[in-house]
Amino acid sequence: MYGPRDVRFEERPEPVIAEPTDAIIRLTATCICGSDLWPYRGANPITEPTPMGHEYCGVVEDVGRGVTSIKKGQFVIGSFFASDNTCPHCRFGYQTSCQHRALVGGAQAPLLRVPLADGTLVATPEMPSADLFPSLLALSDVMGTGWFAADAANVKLGATVAVVGDGAVGLLGVLSARQMGAERIIVMSRHTTRQQLAREFGATDIVTERGDDGVARIKELTKGVGADSVLECVGTPEAMAQAIGITRPGGSVGYVGVPHGVELDAADLFFRHVRLFGGPAPVRRYLPDLIDRVLSGRMNPGKVFDLTLPLREVAEGYRAMDERRAIKTLLRPEGD
Ligand SMILES: [Zn+2]
Repeated sequence: MYGPRDVRFEERPEPVIAEPTDAIIRLTATCICGSDLWPYRGANPITEPTPMGHEYCGVVEDVGRGVTSIKKGQFVIGSFFASDNTCPHCRFGYQTSCQHRALVGGAQAPLLRVPLADGTLVATPEMPSADLFPSLLALSDVMGTGWFAADAANVKLGATVAVVGDGAVGLLGVLSARQMGAERIIVMSRHTTRQQLAREFGATDIVTERGDDGVARIKELTKGVGADSVLECVGTPEAMAQAIGITRPGGSVGYVGVPHGVELDAADLFFRHVRLFGGPAPVRRYLPDLIDRVLSGRMNPGKVFDLTLPLREVAEGYRAMDERRAIKTLLRPEGD
């Protein structure tokens, strides 16, 4: 990415093992994240041309001499933050706060260097069939983030859940809430194709109103009570206000939209009895369970990819997501 709305496909040097704990992965699939749209739209400044992408799955091509559990030839999935998976924060389940965490960048490419390979990557028992690649790729960030939103919002069996945001994370938040046994899942969306996918993933109600009208509509749907668990999957002040406004006293907001300009009013939260928890999803903690759910056919998060392009057409992938023509773009590095 060279700057706002300027993404170029270019030849770059192949990544090499830089630390003994590194692995090099040949990616079977990669994708564009909703968070890549923040710099694309100029919300985060780009000071120099930056390799993009942090979602990945693929086959281990090489490992450093310090790597013991990950082997050449394995099919692996990892998180957007590398983690050692041994420090106190990792052992507590917060690998995205690892004391040695390192950002994994440049995944919109055929080859990727992953630091701390043993702690970061999870291998599947065998080479999965190609039809599972989109769902396994989704686990690297978007599905893991939707899952964390639901987990952070304390979704329980029989719960009433509301989801703010109908992007890929919000839609997979719906799927996560369903997998966790929510009874009622209300999603706020104005887009027909996203509403359809939300229903496929388990949404029971769609709310098209926004702002105060949206809050009123959800109060009405919940007999004036509000939702037990609310997933905030956008990151704007409006979305956060919406999420807090529809949470019942004693309920929880799980927020995973990267906050941009969100400010909180502690007194308001105090008198509302609303619990707030969020952050960069500790995807690594969830990977073994989520991989098992995909391989056993219990869920198919790969459905969020409604556009597939060869990597060389990456710029069109960004445009399509920016203009909301696509929910999420999958990129095929081999260009088939
Ligand atoms: Zn750690």
